[in-house]
Amino acid sequence: MSSIINDIEIIKTKATKINDVDFDNLQFGSVFSDHMLVCDYKDGKWHMPKIMPYQPIALDPSAKIFHYGQSVFEGMKAYKDVNENVWLFRPYDNCKRLNISSKRLAIPELPEDYFMEGLKALLEVDKDWIPTKEGSSLYIRPFVFASGNGFHASPADAYKFIICTAPSGSYFSGEVKVLIEEKYSRSANGGVGFAKAGGNYAGQFYPTQLAKAKGYQQVIWTDDNTHEYIEEAGAMNIFVRINDTLITGPTSDRILDGITRKSIIELAASENIPVDVRKITVNEVVEAAKNGSLKEMFGAGTAAVVSPIAAFGYKDTDYDLPKLEKTYASFLKKRITDIQTNKTEDPFGWRFKV
Ligand SMILES: *Cc1c(COP(=O)(O)O)cnc(C)c1O
Repeated sequence: MSSIINDIEIIKTKATKINDVDFDNLQFGSVFSDHMLVCDYKDGKWHMPKIMPYQPIALDPSAKIFHYGQSVFEGMKAYKDVNENVWLFRPYDNCKRLNISSKRLAIPELPEDYFMEGLKALLEVDKDWIPTKEGSSLYIRPFVFASGNGFHASPADAYKFIICTAPSGSYFSGEVKVLIEEKYSRSANGGVGFAKAGGNYAGQFYPTQLAKAKGYQQVIWTDDNTHEYIEEAGAMNIFVRINDTLITGPTSDRILDGITRKSIIELAASENIPVDVRKITVNEVVEAAKNGSLKEMFGAGTAAVVSPIAAFGYKDTDYDLPKLEKTYASFLKKRITDIQTNKTEDPFGWRFKV
């Protein structure tokens, strides 16, 4: 296939905002780079992507995104090493997953080269926005939504694929206290939990607000049917360490196939850390906390990479996790970020040079 990169029209901003940004004190995902990539689906096909200044988009009030929530997104990061090389981490997996999500939401799938070549072109235009400070990166948000209009509850006939980027510091500061959910669910069998569908996150906000009001920062999602199995940590996959074994649930309709999760599984195995991919019951975690065999719990996802859990609440009781000097969480986080930022060899072939 010949590359589309030369066919992508680029309209550059006349007024860069880069000098207004304090790159030493970046939050997560709250300032946006100068440009965005926009690609339209209409008349039954995706049209050539364009790069233009970051700006508001005009939509009809009857656009189906507003009424039926037909939207999916991805989250990924770009890093710049000391030699100014730009790197992505397993980007083809994000592209594939975007299309898996789209398919479930009846959104037309995007050609892989529009995603990959479009992203490369956008990173080239905004490469000065990629932060270099330890722990920081350029967070990348590709998304697709129904821009076509009409109140009829059916798939739209027009869509937009957009990529915006945001120079970002690290996602979480410190360890979190989480609440194991006994009532609400984020996903169900046959549902859309495996897709990065916008509405999944809206549905999490209210139960998370309730948990926050009780003094927890995050919800641990359990299965919708029995609430007996631990499935995810907020919008992250979850790992539990009992004695020396790392355990994470199998992906399913309900558990999202995280790229960080599968990287941790491969990395841990290559470091001779025993890994079990199997269902985890709330009971065994509570029992392990009581008898001292529960060593660590952490969330895993692109934004935070690894997010250690300090304590969990279940049925009105709080359980503290031990404070270990050497944790799998910090070891695995360092191994992954060193690979991502080109500080170490990448025996897995995960790093992708832009
Ligand atoms: C995005 C996401 C993850 C993590 O996926 P990564 O590819 O590792 O970023 C896990 N769970 C949910 C629900 C998610 O939306």
